[in-house]
Amino acid sequence: MIDLHTHTTASDGRCTPPELVSRASAAGVRVLSVTDHDTVAAWEAASTACAAAGIEWVPGIEITAIDAGVDVHVLGYFIDVHAPALQSFLAEQRRRRIDRVRQMIERLRSSGISLDADAILGPGIADTSKAAGRPWIARALVAGGHAETTSEAFDRWLSRGRPAFVPRLGARPDEVFARIHEAGGIASLAHPGLLGRDGSIDGYAAAGLDAIEAYHPNHDPESTLRYLDLAGRLGLAVSGGSDYHADQAHGGVGPGGVSLPQERYENLKARPRSG
Ligand code: AMP
Ligand code: ZN
Ligand code: FE
Ligand code: FE
Repeated sequence: MIDLHTHTTASDGRCTPPELVSRASAAGVRVLSVTDHDTVAAWEAASTACAAAGIEWVPGIEITAIDAGVDVHVLGYFIDVHAPALQSFLAEQRRRRIDRVRQMIERLRSSGISLDADAILGPGIADTSKAAGRPWIARALVAGGHAETTSEAFDRWLSRGRPAFVPRLGARPDEVFARIHEAGGIASLAHPGLLGRDGSIDGYAAAGLDAIEAYHPNHDPESTLRYLDLAGRLGLAVSGGSDYHADQAHGGVGPGGVSLPQERYENLKARPRSG
């Protein structure tokens, strides 16, 4: 199995990097990318664990861009995780994440729910290589008895249009593609079926997008075929993975639960890097 989309405790996954690799290995994954939101902090621990387990390691990331008020998740693969320009760009993304989580906790307070912002943000403040996000609030809402599940916390409070939602500030998709290219990587549009803006994809392709994530747990077989077809027509490569967070996010499939076919992986890997 080839799984190019997973998260760890460096962002909003619940597994540490070694635990993720151990679960992936047990599931039969033989090529793995950790794609934490706006951070590459897991790379050293995860790549070391992959080497020990005989798993091929693909350096990766999932960067949140913003296009006309809508979050657009952009995966980056084969990046140089040490590239200084990428590092400083990501540090700024993470600072904005902390500000946004604080503002959302304030909004909850206005709705009568008091959460401890310092406790929720503690890991991201103690270690600025970790990326905070709404799931950290969702977990505190569940722990405080304000929701049964993190999904319910999103539906009631945290999703767009809900009382605690605060819009994100940040880079547009074309800037994110350029940042990934500068770091020697290729850019893939994450879960286009969740994004629901197929009409934007040809514009993204013209702006430098290299691939689309056709294989994802939130895509039914028809959507996967539609994105494979679209990738073919636009000359884009294809990526895929489980989006494993070790919780119920994205259907709760395990590592390797969605796998990229070998020939698609070879094609992605062979894609020219413009950086
Ligand atoms: P953020 O990065 O702060 O915008 O939070 C986005 C993350 O929250 C996604 O990557 C998912 O892991 C998670 N998420 C988004 N929507 C939901 C939902 N409805 N239920 C559970 N988790 C969600
Ligand atoms: Zn996530
Ligand atoms: Fe995503
Ligand atoms: Fe993801």
